[in-house]
Amino acid sequence: MAKTPAAARDAAALAPFPTRRSWAEPWKVKVVEPLRMTTRKAREKANIDAGFNTFLLRSADVYIDLLTDSGTSAMSDGQWAGMMLGDEAYAGSRNFYNLEATIQKYYGYTYVVPTHQGRGAENLISQILVKPGMYVPGNMYFTTTRLHQELAGGTFVDVIVKEAHDPAADLPFKGNVDLDAFAALIRKVGAKKIPYITIGATVNMAGGQPISMANIKAVHALAKTHGIKVILDATRAVENAWFIQQREPGYARKSVATILREFCGYSDGCTMSGKKDALVNIGGWLAVNDRDVYEEASNLVVVYEGLHTYGGMAGRDMEAMARGIVESVQDDHMRARIGQVQYLGQKLIDWGVPIVRPVGGHAVYLDAKAFYPQLTQDQFPAQTLAAELYEDSGVRAMERGVVSAGRDAKTGKHRYPKLELVRLTIPRRVYTQAHMDVTAESVLAVWQQRARVRGLTMVYEPKYLRFFQARFERL
Ligand SMILES: *Cc1c(COP(=O)(O)O)cnc(C)c1O
Repeated sequence: MAKTPAAARDAAALAPFPTRRSWAEPWKVKVVEPLRMTTRKAREKANIDAGFNTFLLRSADVYIDLLTDSGTSAMSDGQWAGMMLGDEAYAGSRNFYNLEATIQKYYGYTYVVPTHQGRGAENLISQILVKPGMYVPGNMYFTTTRLHQELAGGTFVDVIVKEAHDPAADLPFKGNVDLDAFAALIRKVGAKKIPYITIGATVNMAGGQPISMANIKAVHALAKTHGIKVILDATRAVENAWFIQQREPGYARKSVATILREFCGYSDGCTMSGKKDALVNIGGWLAVNDRDVYEEASNLVVVYEGLHTYGGMAGRDMEAMARGIVESVQDDHMRARIGQVQYLGQKLIDWGVPIVRPVGGHAVYLDAKAFYPQLTQDQFPAQTLAAELYEDSGVRAMERGVVSAGRDAKTGKHRYPKLELVRLTIPRRVYTQAHMDVTAESVLAVWQQRARVRGLTMVYEPKYLRFFQARFERL
């Protein structure tokens, strides 16, 4: 229809305004937690006291806490109401049965063993399936997952696609398994020495990158012909399902919940940290379809976690997690959750700050090697960048580089990962767009001061998962 003069005039008057319609979070705030702003001087001291390790800062000294999205989500009023319905019976709590039914419905596995958090489930499955001398392939390592595999006598083998190691490779599914690498490993060591392949979805250490439905389907088919199980690290599988909906042909009209169910169908079980997708502060589970594995797990869980109907969780925590799962698979929720991460990432991209592309599901990853080309990995560029960011604004981030990678179990030498990253992890439903703006502006300030930065030296190194407690000094 041709425009009337009046309509044309209205359109011209609106021209400076955006033509797209914004969306906002599908919730409003009911309770607030005050934040404390600190001075630069106070943060300089806090940095020294914490040995330049953001894990050792006190949260009272932090302004915007982007250390992790683990256990830091805001629960809904429905979840809090569920907490009052906690059935704290030692055995057979009704909250367990609700949780079990919810996992069966949305994730689709037959048997559920609750654990205190994700690593509890990783311990169980590793103890049951990994024997000394075995190999466990996976689409990039995760810290606790690999450690449990190693403690059980196994060797982790990375079979993620090469592009996952390139922060600039802008591809839709950088979390995919390199099927040739997986097949080559089977040929090399023999299928009998590979109890299962771990599939991370999304891949935390690659920047929250998703794996496609087509890829997990192919992995499952290949594994099955060799009698190898597929164990999903389902910690962020709902976020992965959202990316499949957005990016994979044929899924645009399917709900996140439908996609999740199909996705899990290409695995034989999962380990899960409820502290991420499931919107709770603590909790996790192991789920499997194999009756024998279940029986061993429900026996072992008594040793490490608690009875098989609570596994280290209070009844109220199981109820909150069951309700959190239902909320987590809502399309509206995922759009807002990942939309906020994309918002922060896009700002930094627009300003020319080097970050991992494309932006992942739970975090924006700064490319510390690109910030500080003057530093070698022995001077801990990502650890340095996290400390600089904290000092600038009180924003707390996390190192994901040589410190997190740890030492090689055999040679005792540093593992030098290709990626040297700082993770700005966004808790779910906690911060506003204004907090994202403040964060982006602080990152920009640190980027602009990058040339004057010298690195760090490690002065204390714990034996296991050193990134949590290592201490550093400025060079
Ligand atoms: C957090 C996490 C885990 C471990 O879970 P916890 O609850 O912290 O023990 C395992 N895998 C991935 C991908 C994670 O993000």
